[in-house]
Amino acid sequence: MTSQLHEECGVFGVFGVEGAADLVRIGLTFLQHRGQEGCGIAYTDGKGELVLRKDQGLVSRVFPEAVRGGGRSAIGHVRYGTTGGGGVDNVQPFLFCRRSGSFATAHNGNLVNADELMQALSTQGALFHSSSDSEIFGALLGSGLKGGGTISVPLLSRVLNRIDGAFSLLVLTDNALYACRDKTGFRPLSIGQLGGGYVVGSESCSLEAAGVHSIRDVRPGEIVRISADGTESSFYSAAAQCAMCAMEYIYFARPDSDIEGRNVHAFRKESGKILYRENPCEADLVVGVPDSGLSAAIGYSEASGIPLEMALVKNAYVARTFIQPTQEMRLNGVRMKLSPVRSLIEGKRLVVIDDSIVRGTTSRQLVRMLREAGAAQIHMRISSPPLRNPCYYGVDISSRKELISASLTVEEVGRYIGADTLSFLSEAGLMEAGGRSDLCMACFSGRYPTDIYSHEDNN
Ligand code: SF4
Repeated sequence: MTSQLHEECGVFGVFGVEGAADLVRIGLTFLQHRGQEGCGIAYTDGKGELVLRKDQGLVSRVFPEAVRGGGRSAIGHVRYGTTGGGGVDNVQPFLFCRRSGSFATAHNGNLVNADELMQALSTQGALFHSSSDSEIFGALLGSGLKGGGTISVPLLSRVLNRIDGAFSLLVLTDNALYACRDKTGFRPLSIGQLGGGYVVGSESCSLEAAGVHSIRDVRPGEIVRISADGTESSFYSAAAQCAMCAMEYIYFARPDSDIEGRNVHAFRKESGKILYRENPCEADLVVGVPDSGLSAAIGYSEASGIPLEMALVKNAYVARTFIQPTQEMRLNGVRMKLSPVRSLIEGKRLVVIDDSIVRGTTSRQLVRMLREAGAAQIHMRISSPPLRNPCYYGVDISSRKELISASLTVEEVGRYIGADTLSFLSEAGLMEAGGRSDLCMACFSGRYPTDIYSHEDNN
């Protein structure tokens, strides 16, 4: 994909398995696409304490070797910083040490009432060691433990009911792992079984990498307590209503992941078929923009009968451009990312399939590059609706100003990027591709599935 969307972290946890910490390292490696700024692992030491290791950088840098020792449970996190900025202090998991027992948290998502909660907690004397909204979980749990006691489902229920927004949250104590999902179910979270133990991960692909088959998703509003007694499920909110982030299917998740029963590649391929039905085109070749435009391109090609060609080659050793934290790095990365195959492109009418357009600058560069490679016509087809609104749930689209479709019509965007024609998948088409209507589509439609608190003013 050529856009500039930023990812929103990944979590992985293991309970009751020998070598848990190293299994988490493996799982995090397969969630690396969800965040590259930093990562960490918190694990039981087998003697009643929790150990934390974390740093900035890729999993392979922070954990260059197998993580040896430790007990039979661990949680980990890969970070892309959407709230709070960079620095090792903001890298998760967070470890909270209390007289009644330590606990660690790892969170994927973004809280919409973080400012309000931080203000309230600070007034009560809570101290924050980072600027990450994820620390709020620990602060709220800690204040619930003031009179003694330990982490429990009733305490978690009380805390989670105060929090609005997106969270797939893991909480590790010496004797239990809690896997929780917000009541809107924005971010995925899968559970698998390994021997007598359990594994939980943001995407099913990370479970498979650890040799575990996903048995089910944690449901919106659910707390799953995993302990030596097995799993125990409870729901902290009666108002749970799924609005899974559509962008997980469109772009973020790996194609080999299944989210809530739907394979990501299959979703994208179907969206490509519907894209052709809604926006047909006469062309010689279908070209998918690597990586996340490829599945939709297969669908478009199958539906149209236009041959699919690998006319754009990704340089595997250049990081995904939009992950780079500064605009300057991002621009350099875009030019280095893709190479056109001139012998396939020259004189051909191309229908180019990409998954979204954010600022339009990279699509414009792509079109220019394809013209320079000799394309006779370039018809851009986008396998999602136009992005017009900010996301408050963990995807780094912070204002309408950075979204070209928020201020220009489809025709104007097409002219700006230099394509012969441009069209997008409809919202109805997107839901049809997923076979479901309970998706969050707020960045397309502006209909937010939760209260957005003070963010209302920042659009
Ligand atoms: S607003 Fe868009 S990116 Fe954010 S959660 Fe909803 S669908 Fe996903």
